[in-house]
Amino acid sequence: MDMNFSKEDLAFREEVRDFLAENLPQHLRDGARRTPGVFVEPDIGMEWHRILAKKGWVAPHWPKEDGGTGWTPVQKFIFDKETALAGAPSLAILGLRLVGPVICAFGTPEQKARFLPRILSGDDYWCQGYSEPGSGSDLASLKTTATLDGDEYTVNGSKIWTTHAHHANWIFALVRTDATVKKQAGITFLLLPMDQEGIEVTPIHSMSGDHEVNAVFFSDAKTSVENRIGEEGAGWSIAKFLLENERGGSCFAPRLIQGIERLEELAQTQPSGVNGAIAHDSRFRDRLARAKLQAEALEFTELRILAELAKGRSPGPQTSLVKLLGSNIGQEIDTLRLELLGTDALQLPLERPLYGNEAPEPIGSEIAQTAMGKYLNSRASTIYGGSDEVQKNIIAKTVLGL
Ligand SMILES: Cc1cc2nc3c(=O)[nH]c(=O)nc-3n(C[C@H](O)[C@H](O)[C@H](O)COP(=O)(O)OP(=O)(O)OC[C@H]3O[C@@H](n4cnc5c(N)ncnc54)[C@H](O)[C@@H]3O)c2cc1C
Repeated sequence: MDMNFSKEDLAFREEVRDFLAENLPQHLRDGARRTPGVFVEPDIGMEWHRILAKKGWVAPHWPKEDGGTGWTPVQKFIFDKETALAGAPSLAILGLRLVGPVICAFGTPEQKARFLPRILSGDDYWCQGYSEPGSGSDLASLKTTATLDGDEYTVNGSKIWTTHAHHANWIFALVRTDATVKKQAGITFLLLPMDQEGIEVTPIHSMSGDHEVNAVFFSDAKTSVENRIGEEGAGWSIAKFLLENERGGSCFAPRLIQGIERLEELAQTQPSGVNGAIAHDSRFRDRLARAKLQAEALEFTELRILAELAKGRSPGPQTSLVKLLGSNIGQEIDTLRLELLGTDALQLPLERPLYGNEAPEPIGSEIAQTAMGKYLNSRASTIYGGSDEVQKNIIAKTVLGL
């Protein structure tokens, strides 16, 4: 991508590079690279979070007055790109990208003062209670109830696929507070402390053997009315605001491009069986080039979204495009990696973590050790945050006007 950065932007890029060279430890780069899961575990993710928080760089997408960086869209882009190129772990989005911006936009001054500093410092770890059995794509049909008695809500029901609920001390949840009105109008956005008798978390293991998601059961779980964001019944608009942030508004193209560049290096070392290295195989090069072009085109879309956000507008339905393209390119990268590795990739170690002193020795190479896990886990990316079909419906309606 040909970006004509200004002198200030180039100086900022140097600042970010210097910071990464000095402050991103090798064990965090190794941990990120050797994580087959969808999400980075808190042991490495939160260590990186705290390093960035100390520098004041952990929440570039928040308003400056709430703890954001005040960077321009181009600076945010540069930061995302440089951290991806350096191989930094992804940060947990649940607090920083999901509930944090919701509290910034809809929270009272008291809620902001209570929750935002603890997200920034990493003292609170959040999980997202949206999906329920039977209410995923059709989220508005959710059934978990909350009833207000005095100044306390009592919550009953269950949530499913709740990422990192087993690590979290808070959950933000969509609950039904009125069953007599249109289904969207009866939904409320509540924050609940996880450490209470009325909440039970049970693990769900993915087909790669990873434990990242859970079922969460609420049996007379309690939360104070002070932990309600917005008015009763306003939860649906807040939910949509949050989903737009979940689907876009950050640059994940740089990570995809970095993934493709690693494949290019790997292709130089893998024999094609006929004509030297696979890197010389024209059909393989075609697929790689196609993925790279798509990732570069995605980068432009992400920049356009950042520009919209900088004008104070919401990211809008183009985030559905980003989610759709980004997850499909990511899956193609994971598929190409498997194909490149051939039989070397036919291994699925179940020990975790695959980094650090206790990690099992890789069979063949380190990249082969995690390739199958990455491939299996990335099947989820076209489901979570709204499946491909749901994104296509949104694009059809709001972008194409069908
Ligand atoms: C790894 C992972 C992590 C997740 N983390 C969280 C989390 O932290 N918190 C949370 O709340 N949820 C989480 N989810 C849940 C996720 O948001 C849902 O799985 C997703 O919204 C799809 O819902 P569903 O699983 O109920 O599938 P369904 O909605 O039952 O969909 C089944 C199939 O039908 C298709 N379909 C559904 N409706 C339509 C339609 N109108 N038109 C065309 N096709 C349609 C879908 O595309 C899909 O192929 C996670 C999921 C995964 C896989």
